[in-house]
Amino acid sequence: MSKKKKTAKKKTTKKKATKKKATKKTSKKKSTRKKGKGHTKPQPYKLEDGISQSMLMSFLGCRQRMQYQLDGWESVGTKDSLRFGSYVHWTLEHLYKAVSANVITRRTAVAYLETHLNPRWRKHNKSAGPKEMQGVEMDILQWSACFPHYVACYPEDFKKGKWVDVEGQFDVEWKGFRLRGMRDGITRINRKLWMLETKTKSRIDEGTLMEALTFDFQNLFYLLANVLELGKPIRGVLYNVIRKPNLKLGQKESMPAHAQRIDEHIEDNGWDHYFKRFEIIYDQADLDRFADELILKLQDFKAFVEGKLPCYRNEGDCVGRWNCEYIPFCSSGKPVGFSQTRVPHRELIEQNI
Ligand code: SF4
Repeated sequence: MSKKKKTAKKKTTKKKATKKKATKKTSKKKSTRKKGKGHTKPQPYKLEDGISQSMLMSFLGCRQRMQYQLDGWESVGTKDSLRFGSYVHWTLEHLYKAVSANVITRRTAVAYLETHLNPRWRKHNKSAGPKEMQGVEMDILQWSACFPHYVACYPEDFKKGKWVDVEGQFDVEWKGFRLRGMRDGITRINRKLWMLETKTKSRIDEGTLMEALTFDFQNLFYLLANVLELGKPIRGVLYNVIRKPNLKLGQKESMPAHAQRIDEHIEDNGWDHYFKRFEIIYDQADLDRFADELILKLQDFKAFVEGKLPCYRNEGDCVGRWNCEYIPFCSSGKPVGFSQTRVPHRELIEQNI
């Protein structure tokens, strides 16, 4: 296990804590869609709906992208890279909840994924088109092939009492803003609380990743919010990286044969190739600087939503490690291949499936 050693102090976030929880009614109980004639239309975003780190990142990356999202636009069709990560997150959340509730153990975790969670995920995606459903099945196959190795690599994850909190969502008020998001879990190591953050990646550049994590926006956003919500100091972030298998299905290869090939690839390359965990400790200066900058970003976001800041394109953010989904929209100026069905905070709503 790699370690990044930094001194951790936690007093500011604790002191600034306004432990007041924002109401959670919107994500679970209230539909964010209203019925139209033959189609559904998302209700417009309001600041009271809350701000997630992904919204802020989108706004900071390109205001035009944020505007498309606020207007409810999303591309029609598959989003392969996001789909695998969403599925893995969802399964881990439910697996760790089942561990906490003494429903499963290390020995029964694999069977629980196969017989309980995978059918639920298929049911959730039953309205997907044939091409997308193929992708869903491939996600299930890939993760199901990896998962026995994951359990063997991290047996302590499946021990009773491992997880202090697996509630899944945070929703907290900070300096007049409602901060929302999902946490992957809180665990205890040497009597200190740690926040688990899981990422699925096709490529892992360890050196750059370690440097980038020292000021990672998502980690610090989640750390701040979780300290506020739990009212307890958190030592740091356990950054849990899972490599997405990038083996392609052969033209004449059956699905079971492909699963077998993934299994062998993991055996040959070792767990360390597929699973990595980094312990990141943030010190007081990191947290202070983050909080000082976060309030500026939130104020800008608020002004933008209220129409007090102009919208413009940031062409430097179109093509990169991930291509912006709105390239066709910006290119043609028309929403061909897009539908106005995007629901604010969908990831929080979908977590409840
Ligand atoms: S394509 Fe480029 S300019 Fe258009 S929304 Fe995306 S990042 Fe912004």
